[in-house]
Amino acid sequence: MRLVVLLCFTMLLPCNSAFPLFHKHLMAKLKDLKFIENYLNRFFPVSDKTIKETIEERIKKMQAYFHLTVTGTIDTETVEVMEQPRCGIPDVLEYSTFPERPKWDKNTLTYRIKNYTRDMSQQKVDAAIAKAFKVWSDETPLKFTKTSSEADIEIWFASGAHGDSYPFDGRGGTLAHAFAPGSDIGGDAHFDEDEVWSEGRREVNLFLVAAHEFGHSLGLGHSNVRGALMYPTYSYTDPNTFQLPEDDRRGIQSLYGKRN
Ligand SMILES: [Zn+2]
Ligand SMILES: [Zn+2]
Repeated sequence: MRLVVLLCFTMLLPCNSAFPLFHKHLMAKLKDLKFIENYLNRFFPVSDKTIKETIEERIKKMQAYFHLTVTGTIDTETVEVMEQPRCGIPDVLEYSTFPERPKWDKNTLTYRIKNYTRDMSQQKVDAAIAKAFKVWSDETPLKFTKTSSEADIEIWFASGAHGDSYPFDGRGGTLAHAFAPGSDIGGDAHFDEDEVWSEGRREVNLFLVAAHEFGHSLGLGHSNVRGALMYPTYSYTDPNTFQLPEDDRRGIQSLYGKRN
């Protein structure tokens, strides 16, 4: 009798100590559900409100877009992609251009850096931005000129709400966003000042994100080709050996043609 009691006790112990762990796991899962819903609403919004889509169907859409195993359930692979730092433009576009293909109707465009990040010297920011524009001017007849007055492409760093309808979200998550070609805010690129920007591998590389955002400024949407510059999530490649991937080259040349 005593032995049984003793056994029960020892068997209960690990159970008891495991309970807070289990509870924590459950809380994380519930938080994940909210996180997943927010992610889908932001990046895979339901475009046609008359169509009722289940969360499972929407997860499937997201998984197919990223070439993941399409399960319709929240697996580790899916959560991993959702947690990666990324661009703030939604992923519903299936083409490499925006709907109605907005583009600049001139080949010489101006840009202005309205303010600077605290993370890098002005000289290094200038160099990263110029190099990011060069990615696109190397492949097209486009030319980019830096100016200190009002420009086609206005560049700035901002935290949280910053005057458009797309507030930034603190460190991680959305890194930057840009607007398709057009007047006023059209073509402008905004960078989240809550990120730590760098010219190297550390944290978020400004050149790589700027090159991606300027793709939007010129009229490219996202690409679901892994490794493309216009792929929505951030991944580091050495800026010194960077070459514009074929998919992005085809995209930009479909809008502006080849370099003369
Ligand atoms: Zn983007
Ligand atoms: Zn903005």
